[in-house]
Amino acid sequence: MTLPSPSALLGIKGFDFWYPGQDDTVSRLLSWFNSDDRFIGTAIPTGGGKSLDALLVAVLTGSRTVIVTATKGLQNQYVQLASQLGGVNVLGQNNFICSLVPSLRADEGPCHDGMSCSLKENCPYRVQLNRALSSQIVITNYAYYLAQTNFSQGLGEVDLLILDEAHTAGAFSAMENFLTIHLSRLEVESLGVQFPKSPDQWAVWKLWAEDATPAVKSQVQVIEAEIKELRDSGVKAIPSATSRAYRGARAVLARLERLSGVSEDWVIQPTRHGYMFTPRWVANYGESLFGKVPKVMLMSAILSHKTLDSIGVPKEGRAWLEVDSYFPAKNTPIWHVPTARINFRTDDYGSTIWCTRIDQIISRRLDRKGIVFTVSYERARMLLARSSYKDIMLTHSTGDVIQVVNKFKSMPAPAVLVSPTVTTGWDFPGNGQPQYIIIGKIPYPDTRDPVAKARHEDDKDWGSFLAMETIIQSSGRMSRSVDDKCEVLICDDNARWYMFRYKDFAPAWFNKRWKGSLSCVPNPLV
Ligand code: SF4
Repeated sequence: MTLPSPSALLGIKGFDFWYPGQDDTVSRLLSWFNSDDRFIGTAIPTGGGKSLDALLVAVLTGSRTVIVTATKGLQNQYVQLASQLGGVNVLGQNNFICSLVPSLRADEGPCHDGMSCSLKENCPYRVQLNRALSSQIVITNYAYYLAQTNFSQGLGEVDLLILDEAHTAGAFSAMENFLTIHLSRLEVESLGVQFPKSPDQWAVWKLWAEDATPAVKSQVQVIEAEIKELRDSGVKAIPSATSRAYRGARAVLARLERLSGVSEDWVIQPTRHGYMFTPRWVANYGESLFGKVPKVMLMSAILSHKTLDSIGVPKEGRAWLEVDSYFPAKNTPIWHVPTARINFRTDDYGSTIWCTRIDQIISRRLDRKGIVFTVSYERARMLLARSSYKDIMLTHSTGDVIQVVNKFKSMPAPAVLVSPTVTTGWDFPGNGQPQYIIIGKIPYPDTRDPVAKARHEDDKDWGSFLAMETIIQSSGRMSRSVDDKCEVLICDDNARWYMFRYKDFAPAWFNKRWKGSLSCVPNPLV
Protein backbone atom coordinates (compact mmCIF):
# COMPACT_ATOMS: atom_id res chain seq x y z
CA MET A 1 0.00 0.00 0.00
CA THR A 2 1.40 3.47 -0.88
CA LEU A 3 0.49 5.96 1.80
CA PRO A 4 0.39 9.76 1.52
CA SER A 5 2.99 11.57 3.69
CA PRO A 6 2.59 11.56 7.49
CA SER A 7 1.79 15.28 7.37
CA ALA A 8 -1.01 14.67 4.88
CA LEU A 9 -2.38 11.81 6.96
CA LEU A 10 -2.24 13.63 10.29
CA GLY A 11 -2.97 17.15 9.07
CA ILE A 12 0.12 18.57 10.82
CA LYS A 13 3.23 20.22 9.40
CA GLY A 14 6.81 18.96 9.37
CA PHE A 15 6.47 15.35 8.24
CA ASP A 16 6.43 15.53 4.47
CA PHE A 17 8.57 12.42 4.00
CA TRP A 18 8.66 8.90 5.37
CA TYR A 19 11.85 7.43 6.82
CA PRO A 20 12.99 4.50 4.67
CA GLY A 21 10.51 1.66 5.20
CA GLN A 22 8.35 3.62 7.63
CA ASP A 23 5.24 3.65 5.41
CA ASP A 24 5.49 -0.14 5.19
CA THR A 25 5.74 -0.37 8.99
CA VAL A 26 2.61 1.74 9.41
CA SER A 27 0.73 -0.34 6.79
CA ARG A 28 1.64 -3.52 8.68
CA LEU A 29 0.56 -2.03 11.99
CA LEU A 30 -2.78 -1.08 10.44
CA SER A 31 -3.17 -4.67 9.14
CA TRP A 32 -2.52 -5.96 12.65
CA PHE A 33 -5.12 -3.56 14.04
CA ASN A 34 -7.71 -5.06 11.73
CA SER A 35 -6.68 -8.64 12.55
CA ASP A 36 -7.89 -10.85 15.40
CA ASP A 37 -4.59 -10.59 17.30
CA ARG A 38 -4.93 -8.56 20.47
CA PHE A 39 -1.20 -7.84 20.91
CA ILE A 40 1.64 -6.79 18.66
CA GLY A 41 5.32 -6.52 19.63
CA THR A 42 7.10 -3.97 17.46
CA ALA A 43 10.89 -3.62 17.44
CA ILE A 44 11.69 -0.34 15.69
CA PRO A 45 15.32 0.83 15.95
CA THR A 46 16.46 4.38 16.72
CA GLY A 47 15.66 6.81 13.94
CA GLY A 48 12.77 4.74 12.58
CA GLY A 49 10.10 7.26 13.61
CA LYS A 50 8.56 5.10 16.34
CA SER A 51 6.56 7.91 18.03
CA LEU A 52 5.12 9.06 14.72
CA ASP A 53 4.14 5.46 13.87
CA ALA A 54 2.26 5.22 17.18
CA LEU A 55 0.32 8.41 16.53
CA LEU A 56 -0.44 7.42 12.93
CA VAL A 57 -1.97 4.13 14.09
CA ALA A 58 -4.00 5.98 16.73
CA VAL A 59 -5.33 8.56 14.25
CA LEU A 60 -5.82 6.34 11.20
CA THR A 61 -7.76 3.71 13.14
CA GLY A 62 -9.88 6.37 14.87
CA SER A 63 -9.09 4.66 18.17
CA ARG A 64 -9.25 6.31 21.55
CA THR A 65 -5.61 5.72 22.46
CA VAL A 66 -3.49 5.84 25.58
CA ILE A 67 0.28 6.03 24.96
CA VAL A 68 2.45 5.06 27.92
CA THR A 69 6.17 5.85 28.17
CA ALA A 70 8.90 5.27 30.75
CA THR A 71 11.13 8.33 30.36
CA LYS A 72 10.33 12.04 30.58
CA GLY A 73 12.25 12.67 27.34
CA LEU A 74 10.03 10.37 25.30
CA GLN A 75 6.89 11.55 27.06
CA ASN A 76 7.75 15.15 26.08
CA GLN A 77 8.44 14.07 22.50
CA TYR A 78 4.98 12.50 22.32
CA VAL A 79 3.34 15.52 23.94
CA GLN A 80 4.87 17.86 21.35
CA LEU A 81 3.49 15.74 18.52
CA ALA A 82 0.18 14.71 20.06
CA SER A 83 -0.79 18.19 21.27
CA GLN A 84 -1.08 19.19 17.59
CA LEU A 85 -3.67 16.40 17.28
CA GLY A 86 -5.65 17.34 20.41
CA GLY A 87 -3.74 14.85 22.56
CA VAL A 88 -3.45 15.47 26.30
CA ASN A 89 -0.60 14.71 28.69
CA VAL A 90 -1.68 13.43 32.09
CA LEU A 91 0.49 13.40 35.21
CA GLY A 92 0.01 12.17 38.77
CA GLN A 93 -1.47 14.28 41.58
CA ASN A 94 1.93 14.86 43.16
CA ASN A 95 2.77 17.15 40.21
CA PHE A 96 0.02 19.64 41.13
CA ILE A 97 -0.69 22.10 43.93
CA CYS A 98 -3.97 21.78 45.83
CA SER A 99 -5.96 24.95 45.06
CA LEU A 100 -7.83 24.75 48.36
CA VAL A 101 -4.71 24.48 50.53
CA PRO A 102 -1.83 25.74 48.36
CA SER A 103 0.78 24.57 50.87
CA LEU A 104 -0.22 21.00 49.97
CA ARG A 105 0.20 18.94 46.82
CA ALA A 106 -2.98 17.65 45.18
CA ASP A 107 -2.28 14.13 46.47
CA GLU A 108 -2.30 15.55 50.02
CA GLY A 109 -5.43 17.70 49.55
CA PRO A 110 -8.25 17.63 52.14
CA CYS A 111 -10.52 15.87 49.61
CA HIS A 112 -8.56 12.71 50.39
CA ASP A 113 -9.89 12.89 53.96
CA GLY A 114 -13.45 12.96 52.67
CA MET A 115 -13.73 16.77 53.01
CA SER A 116 -15.79 18.59 50.41
CA CYS A 117 -13.89 20.97 48.15
CA SER A 118 -15.42 24.20 46.87
CA LEU A 119 -12.68 24.48 44.25
CA LYS A 120 -13.02 20.97 42.90
CA GLU A 121 -14.06 22.17 39.45
CA ASN A 122 -10.86 24.20 39.17
CA CYS A 123 -8.53 21.70 40.83
CA PRO A 124 -5.55 21.62 38.42
CA TYR A 125 -5.14 17.85 38.72
CA ARG A 126 -8.81 17.21 38.01
CA VAL A 127 -8.87 19.74 35.16
CA GLN A 128 -6.10 17.87 33.31
CA LEU A 129 -7.67 14.49 34.12
CA ASN A 130 -11.05 15.64 32.78
CA ARG A 131 -9.36 16.94 29.64
CA ALA A 132 -7.66 13.58 29.24
CA LEU A 133 -10.91 11.68 29.80
CA SER A 134 -12.51 13.53 26.90
CA SER A 135 -9.47 13.35 24.61
CA GLN A 136 -8.92 10.85 21.80
CA ILE A 137 -5.19 10.60 22.57
CA VAL A 138 -3.75 10.49 26.08
CA ILE A 139 -0.03 10.47 26.91
CA THR A 140 1.13 9.29 30.30
CA ASN A 141 3.81 7.34 32.14
CA TYR A 142 3.78 3.76 33.45
CA ALA A 143 3.62 4.61 37.16
CA TYR A 144 0.57 6.85 36.75
CA TYR A 145 -1.14 4.55 34.27
CA LEU A 146 -0.81 1.50 36.52
CA ALA A 147 -2.00 3.37 39.63
CA GLN A 148 -4.87 5.12 37.87
CA THR A 149 -6.20 2.05 36.10
CA ASN A 150 -5.83 -0.36 39.03
CA PHE A 151 -6.54 1.80 42.09
CA SER A 152 -8.62 4.71 40.78
CA GLN A 153 -11.22 5.59 38.18
CA GLY A 154 -9.04 4.73 35.15
CA LEU A 155 -8.67 6.78 31.99
CA GLY A 156 -12.02 6.01 30.36
CA GLU A 157 -12.76 3.52 27.60
CA VAL A 158 -9.56 2.74 25.71
CA ASP A 159 -9.53 1.12 22.25
CA LEU A 160 -5.78 1.05 21.77
CA LEU A 161 -3.04 0.93 24.38
CA ILE A 162 0.47 1.75 23.13
CA LEU A 163 3.25 0.76 25.51
CA ASP A 164 6.43 2.42 24.38
CA GLU A 165 9.83 1.56 25.85
CA ALA A 166 8.22 -1.80 26.53
CA HIS A 167 11.56 -3.57 27.06
CA THR A 168 12.44 -4.64 30.58
CA ALA A 169 13.71 -1.21 31.56
CA GLY A 170 10.20 0.13 30.86
CA ALA A 171 7.22 -2.10 31.35
CA PHE A 172 8.93 -4.81 33.42
CA SER A 173 10.47 -2.33 35.87
CA ALA A 174 7.25 -0.32 36.06
CA MET A 175 5.23 -3.45 36.85
CA GLU A 176 7.78 -4.59 39.40
CA ASN A 177 7.71 -1.19 41.14
CA PHE A 178 3.94 -1.13 41.05
CA LEU A 179 3.56 -4.64 42.48
CA THR A 180 6.31 -4.48 45.12
CA ILE A 181 4.94 -4.04 48.63
CA HIS A 182 6.81 -2.11 51.32
CA LEU A 183 5.90 -2.31 55.01
CA SER A 184 7.67 -0.25 57.64
CA ARG A 185 7.90 -1.39 61.24
CA LEU A 186 6.89 2.06 62.45
CA GLU A 187 3.65 2.26 60.49
CA VAL A 188 2.68 -1.33 61.27
CA GLU A 189 3.43 -1.08 65.00
CA SER A 190 1.60 2.24 65.25
CA LEU A 191 -1.52 0.27 64.32
CA GLY A 192 -0.92 -2.24 67.13
CA VAL A 193 0.49 -5.00 64.92
CA GLN A 194 3.89 -6.71 65.31
CA PHE A 195 5.89 -8.24 62.46
CA PRO A 196 6.03 -12.07 62.55
CA LYS A 197 8.77 -13.71 64.63
CA SER A 198 10.16 -15.89 61.80
CA PRO A 199 9.98 -13.64 58.77
CA ASP A 200 11.74 -15.83 56.18
CA GLN A 201 8.83 -17.89 54.89
CA TRP A 202 6.29 -16.52 52.47
CA ALA A 203 3.51 -18.65 54.04
CA VAL A 204 4.23 -17.01 57.42
CA TRP A 205 3.82 -13.53 55.92
CA LYS A 206 0.65 -14.45 54.10
CA LEU A 207 -0.91 -15.82 57.27
CA TRP A 208 0.35 -12.81 59.20
CA ALA A 209 -1.25 -10.43 56.67
CA GLU A 210 -4.56 -12.31 56.86
CA ASP A 211 -4.51 -12.15 60.67
CA ALA A 212 -3.47 -8.49 60.84
CA THR A 213 -6.04 -7.24 58.32
CA PRO A 214 -9.12 -7.15 60.63
CA ALA A 215 -7.18 -5.27 63.34
CA VAL A 216 -5.94 -2.65 60.88
CA LYS A 217 -9.39 -2.40 59.30
CA SER A 218 -10.93 -1.57 62.64
CA GLN A 219 -8.22 1.08 63.22
CA VAL A 220 -9.16 2.66 59.88
CA GLN A 221 -12.82 2.66 60.95
CA VAL A 222 -11.97 4.35 64.26
CA ILE A 223 -10.09 7.16 62.50
CA GLU A 224 -12.85 7.42 59.89
CA ALA A 225 -15.42 7.93 62.66
CA GLU A 226 -13.19 10.59 64.23
CA ILE A 227 -12.94 12.42 60.90
CA LYS A 228 -16.69 12.23 60.36
CA GLU A 229 -17.28 13.73 63.77
CA LEU A 230 -14.90 16.58 62.94
CA ARG A 231 -16.58 17.10 59.57
CA ASP A 232 -20.03 17.14 61.15
CA SER A 233 -18.85 19.70 63.68
CA GLY A 234 -18.05 22.01 60.75
CA VAL A 235 -14.23 22.15 60.91
CA LYS A 236 -12.68 23.45 57.72
CA ALA A 237 -9.63 21.17 57.79
CA ILE A 238 -8.85 17.89 59.47
CA PRO A 239 -5.83 18.20 61.82
CA SER A 240 -2.77 17.07 59.90
CA ALA A 241 -1.88 14.38 62.48
CA THR A 242 -5.32 12.78 62.06
CA SER A 243 -5.11 13.09 58.29
CA ARG A 244 -1.68 11.45 58.26
CA ALA A 245 -2.84 8.65 60.55
CA TYR A 246 -5.88 8.01 58.35
CA ARG A 247 -3.91 7.84 55.12
CA GLY A 248 -1.18 5.76 56.72
CA ALA A 249 -3.69 3.23 58.10
CA ARG A 250 -5.52 2.98 54.78
CA ALA A 251 -2.26 2.46 52.92
CA VAL A 252 -1.18 -0.33 55.31
CA LEU A 253 -4.60 -1.96 55.01
CA ALA A 254 -4.39 -1.92 51.21
CA ARG A 255 -0.92 -3.47 51.33
CA LEU A 256 -2.00 -6.18 53.78
CA GLU A 257 -4.94 -7.05 51.55
CA ARG A 258 -2.63 -7.31 48.55
CA LEU A 259 -0.10 -9.36 50.49
CA SER A 260 -2.70 -11.85 51.67
CA GLY A 261 -4.05 -12.13 48.12
CA VAL A 262 -0.72 -13.18 46.56
CA SER A 263 -0.94 -16.82 45.53
CA GLU A 264 2.75 -17.53 44.84
CA ASP A 265 6.02 -17.07 46.71
CA TRP A 266 7.49 -13.60 46.42
CA VAL A 267 11.00 -12.53 47.40
CA ILE A 268 11.17 -11.23 50.98
CA GLN A 269 13.85 -8.63 51.71
CA PRO A 270 14.51 -6.90 55.02
CA THR A 271 14.97 -3.14 54.54
CA ARG A 272 16.27 -0.45 56.89
CA HIS A 273 12.76 0.27 58.16
CA GLY A 274 10.91 -2.99 57.66
CA TYR A 275 10.36 -5.41 54.79
CA MET A 276 9.91 -5.36 51.05
CA PHE A 277 8.07 -8.03 49.04
CA THR A 278 8.80 -8.37 45.32
CA PRO A 279 7.30 -10.79 42.79
CA ARG A 280 9.87 -13.22 41.41
CA TRP A 281 8.32 -12.49 38.01
CA VAL A 282 5.71 -10.02 36.85
CA ALA A 283 4.38 -12.10 33.94
CA ASN A 284 1.44 -13.41 35.98
CA TYR A 285 0.25 -9.85 36.54
CA GLY A 286 0.14 -8.75 32.88
CA GLU A 287 -3.53 -7.85 33.12
CA SER A 288 -2.68 -5.09 35.63
CA LEU A 289 -1.00 -3.43 32.64
CA PHE A 290 -3.24 -4.49 29.76
CA GLY A 291 -6.59 -4.42 31.56
CA LYS A 292 -9.45 -5.10 29.17
CA VAL A 293 -8.07 -2.97 26.33
CA PRO A 294 -8.87 -4.78 23.07
CA LYS A 295 -5.72 -3.79 21.17
CA VAL A 296 -2.27 -3.49 22.75
CA MET A 297 0.82 -2.40 20.86
CA LEU A 298 4.20 -2.84 22.58
CA MET A 299 7.13 -0.90 21.12
CA SER A 300 10.83 -0.59 21.74
CA ALA A 301 14.05 -0.44 19.76
CA ILE A 302 15.25 -3.56 21.56
CA LEU A 303 12.06 -5.54 22.02
CA SER A 304 12.28 -9.33 21.97
CA HIS A 305 9.86 -12.20 22.46
CA LYS A 306 11.51 -12.79 25.82
CA THR A 307 10.48 -9.29 26.90
CA LEU A 308 6.90 -9.95 25.86
CA ASP A 309 6.94 -13.26 27.77
CA SER A 310 8.36 -11.52 30.82
CA ILE A 311 5.53 -9.00 31.09
CA GLY A 312 2.78 -11.52 30.50
CA VAL A 313 1.84 -11.05 26.84
CA PRO A 314 0.18 -14.36 25.92
CA LYS A 315 1.75 -16.23 22.99
CA GLU A 316 -1.66 -16.78 21.49
CA GLY A 317 -3.00 -13.63 19.87
CA ARG A 318 0.48 -12.12 19.65
CA ALA A 319 1.68 -10.60 16.37
CA TRP A 320 5.30 -9.57 15.82
CA LEU A 321 6.90 -6.88 13.67
CA GLU A 322 10.65 -6.37 13.53
CA VAL A 323 11.88 -3.40 11.52
CA ASP A 324 15.38 -3.15 10.04
CA SER A 325 17.57 -0.12 10.72
CA TYR A 326 18.33 2.10 7.75
CA PHE A 327 21.46 3.42 9.52
CA PRO A 328 24.38 1.85 7.57
CA ALA A 329 25.76 -1.07 9.64
CA LYS A 330 29.28 -0.14 8.42
CA ASN A 331 29.01 3.13 10.37
CA THR A 332 28.48 1.38 13.67
CA PRO A 333 30.54 -1.85 13.75
CA ILE A 334 30.78 -3.75 17.03
CA TRP A 335 34.02 -5.70 17.66
CA HIS A 336 35.51 -7.69 20.46
CA VAL A 337 39.13 -6.66 21.18
CA PRO A 338 41.07 -9.44 22.95
CA THR A 339 41.77 -8.29 26.51
CA ALA A 340 41.00 -10.59 29.49
CA ARG A 341 37.94 -12.17 30.99
CA ILE A 342 36.42 -9.42 33.08
CA ASN A 343 34.33 -10.44 36.07
CA PHE A 344 34.52 -10.39 39.86
CA ARG A 345 37.35 -12.96 39.69
CA THR A 346 39.57 -10.80 37.46
CA ASP A 347 42.89 -10.36 39.29
CA ASP A 348 45.28 -7.44 39.23
CA TYR A 349 47.10 -8.84 36.22
CA GLY A 350 43.82 -9.02 34.27
CA SER A 351 42.89 -5.51 35.37
CA THR A 352 46.28 -4.21 34.22
CA ILE A 353 45.76 -5.78 30.77
CA TRP A 354 42.27 -4.26 30.71
CA CYS A 355 43.50 -0.73 31.48
CA THR A 356 46.38 -1.09 29.01
CA ARG A 357 44.06 -2.24 26.22
CA ILE A 358 41.71 0.68 26.80
CA ASP A 359 44.69 3.06 26.73
CA GLN A 360 45.86 1.51 23.44
CA ILE A 361 42.42 2.12 21.92
CA ILE A 362 42.36 5.73 23.14
CA SER A 363 45.93 6.41 22.03
CA ARG A 364 44.94 5.92 18.39
CA ARG A 365 41.80 8.00 18.72
CA LEU A 366 43.01 11.31 20.09
CA ASP A 367 41.30 13.11 17.22
CA ARG A 368 37.84 12.20 18.56
CA LYS A 369 35.64 11.65 21.60
CA GLY A 370 34.70 8.38 23.22
CA ILE A 371 32.85 6.77 26.10
CA VAL A 372 34.09 3.89 28.27
CA PHE A 373 31.28 1.93 29.95
CA THR A 374 32.77 0.32 33.04
CA VAL A 375 29.59 -1.27 34.55
CA SER A 376 30.74 -0.39 38.10
CA TYR A 377 31.96 2.81 39.77
CA GLU A 378 34.82 0.80 41.25
CA ARG A 379 36.11 -0.14 37.79
CA ALA A 380 35.67 3.49 36.63
CA ARG A 381 37.84 4.68 39.53
CA MET A 382 40.44 2.05 38.77
CA LEU A 383 40.69 3.16 35.13
CA LEU A 384 41.02 6.79 36.16
CA ALA A 385 43.78 5.86 38.58
CA ARG A 386 45.80 3.75 36.14
CA SER A 387 45.20 5.26 32.69
CA SER A 388 47.85 7.32 30.92
CA TYR A 389 44.96 9.37 29.55
CA LYS A 390 43.42 10.39 32.87
CA ASP A 391 43.92 14.05 31.88
CA ILE A 392 41.34 13.80 29.11
CA MET A 393 38.95 11.57 31.10
CA LEU A 394 35.84 12.66 32.97
CA THR A 395 33.84 10.53 35.33
CA HIS A 396 30.91 11.15 37.62
CA SER A 397 29.25 10.00 40.81
CA THR A 398 25.50 9.39 41.29
CA GLY A 399 24.96 13.07 42.15
CA ASP A 400 26.67 14.92 39.29
CA VAL A 401 25.84 12.90 36.16
CA ILE A 402 24.03 15.77 34.39
CA GLN A 403 26.83 18.29 34.98
CA VAL A 404 29.55 15.86 33.88
CA VAL A 405 27.64 14.72 30.78
CA ASN A 406 27.02 18.34 29.77
CA LYS A 407 30.69 19.19 30.28
CA PHE A 408 31.74 16.18 28.18
CA LYS A 409 29.34 17.21 25.41
CA SER A 410 30.79 20.71 25.29
CA MET A 411 34.44 19.57 25.29
CA PRO A 412 36.48 19.40 22.09
CA ALA A 413 38.35 16.19 21.19
CA PRO A 414 40.16 14.43 22.68
CA ALA A 415 37.82 13.63 25.57
CA VAL A 416 36.71 10.37 27.20
CA LEU A 417 33.67 9.94 29.41
CA VAL A 418 34.17 7.05 31.84
CA SER A 419 30.78 5.98 33.11
CA PRO A 420 29.05 2.95 34.60
CA THR A 421 25.54 4.35 34.15
CA VAL A 422 24.85 6.52 31.10
CA THR A 423 23.91 3.42 29.10
CA THR A 424 20.33 4.62 28.57
CA GLY A 425 18.51 7.92 28.30
CA TRP A 426 21.53 9.95 27.11
CA ASP A 427 22.34 10.85 23.51
CA PHE A 428 25.79 11.78 22.21
CA PRO A 429 25.34 12.54 18.49
CA GLY A 430 28.57 12.86 16.55
CA ASN A 431 27.62 15.89 14.43
CA GLY A 432 29.65 14.47 11.55
CA GLN A 433 32.65 13.39 13.66
CA PRO A 434 33.46 9.68 14.15
CA GLN A 435 33.34 8.60 17.79
CA TYR A 436 33.93 5.40 19.74
CA ILE A 437 32.46 3.43 22.60
CA ILE A 438 34.37 0.94 24.74
CA ILE A 439 32.27 -1.61 26.61
CA GLY A 440 34.56 -2.64 29.43
CA LYS A 441 32.62 -5.67 30.63
CA ILE A 442 29.65 -7.83 29.65
CA PRO A 443 27.18 -6.06 31.96
CA TYR A 444 25.71 -8.96 33.93
CA PRO A 445 23.46 -7.84 36.80
CA ASP A 446 24.68 -8.38 40.34
CA THR A 447 23.21 -11.73 41.40
CA ARG A 448 23.91 -10.97 45.05
CA ASP A 449 20.67 -9.00 44.90
CA PRO A 450 18.00 -11.39 46.31
CA VAL A 451 15.49 -10.68 43.52
CA ALA A 452 18.11 -11.15 40.78
CA LYS A 453 19.25 -14.33 42.55
CA ALA A 454 15.72 -15.74 42.69
CA ARG A 455 15.16 -14.98 39.02
CA HIS A 456 18.49 -16.53 38.11
CA GLU A 457 17.43 -19.72 39.95
CA ASP A 458 14.28 -19.90 37.81
CA ASP A 459 15.82 -18.78 34.52
CA LYS A 460 19.57 -19.21 34.07
CA ASP A 461 19.46 -16.96 30.99
CA TRP A 462 17.77 -14.00 32.66
CA GLY A 463 21.03 -12.25 33.59
CA SER A 464 22.39 -12.81 30.08
CA PHE A 465 19.20 -11.36 28.65
CA LEU A 466 19.51 -8.21 30.79
CA ALA A 467 23.18 -7.93 29.87
CA MET A 468 22.33 -8.02 26.16
CA GLU A 469 19.75 -5.32 26.68
CA THR A 470 22.38 -3.10 28.30
CA ILE A 471 24.93 -3.83 25.54
CA ILE A 472 22.41 -2.80 22.87
CA GLN A 473 21.50 0.36 24.75
CA SER A 474 25.15 1.23 25.42
CA SER A 475 26.17 0.64 21.81
CA GLY A 476 23.54 3.05 20.53
CA ARG A 477 24.43 6.13 22.60
CA MET A 478 26.52 7.71 19.82
CA SER A 479 24.50 6.43 16.83
CA ARG A 480 21.53 8.73 16.90
CA SER A 481 21.16 9.56 13.22
CA VAL A 482 21.94 8.11 9.81
CA ASP A 483 25.12 10.22 9.58
CA ASP A 484 26.61 9.22 12.93
CA LYS A 485 29.68 7.01 12.88
CA CYS A 486 30.59 5.14 16.02
CA GLU A 487 32.66 1.97 16.46
CA VAL A 488 31.93 -0.13 19.54
CA LEU A 489 34.81 -2.12 21.04
CA ILE A 490 34.12 -4.72 23.72
CA CYS A 491 37.11 -5.25 26.03
CA ASP A 492 35.97 -8.39 27.81
CA ASP A 493 36.92 -11.82 26.43
CA ASN A 494 33.58 -13.23 27.60
CA ALA A 495 32.23 -11.50 24.48
CA ARG A 496 33.70 -14.34 22.39
CA TRP A 497 31.09 -16.86 23.54
CA TYR A 498 28.47 -14.51 24.92
CA MET A 499 27.72 -12.64 21.69
CA PHE A 500 27.31 -15.94 19.84
CA ARG A 501 25.30 -17.81 22.45
CA TYR A 502 22.84 -15.02 23.17
CA LYS A 503 22.44 -13.45 19.73
CA ASP A 504 18.74 -14.37 19.76
CA PHE A 505 18.21 -11.90 22.59
CA ALA A 506 19.18 -9.08 20.23
CA PRO A 507 17.13 -7.73 17.33
CA ALA A 508 18.29 -8.48 13.78
CA TRP A 509 19.40 -4.86 13.15
CA PHE A 510 21.80 -5.12 16.10
CA ASN A 511 23.21 -8.51 15.06
CA LYS A 512 24.09 -6.99 11.68
CA ARG A 513 26.44 -4.61 13.48
CA TRP A 514 28.27 -7.35 15.39
CA LYS A 515 31.47 -8.17 13.46
CA GLY A 516 33.20 -10.69 15.73
CA SER A 517 36.57 -10.88 17.48
CA LEU A 518 39.72 -9.10 16.33
CA SER A 519 43.32 -10.07 17.04
CA CYS A 520 44.48 -6.54 17.91
CA VAL A 521 43.24 -2.99 18.35
CA PRO A 522 41.66 -1.91 15.03
CA ASN A 523 42.39 1.23 13.07
CA PRO A 524 39.97 4.02 13.95
CA LEU A 525 36.75 4.20 11.97
CA VAL A 526 36.86 6.88 9.28
S1 SF4 B 1 -10.05 18.54 44.76
FE1 SF4 B 1 -9.81 20.38 46.02
S2 SF4 B 1 -8.95 19.60 47.93
FE2 SF4 B 1 -8.65 18.03 46.42
S3 SF4 B 1 -6.60 18.43 45.62
FE3 SF4 B 1 -8.05 19.45 44.27
S4 SF4 B 1 -8.17 21.53 45.05
FE4 SF4 B 1 -7.27 20.28 46.66
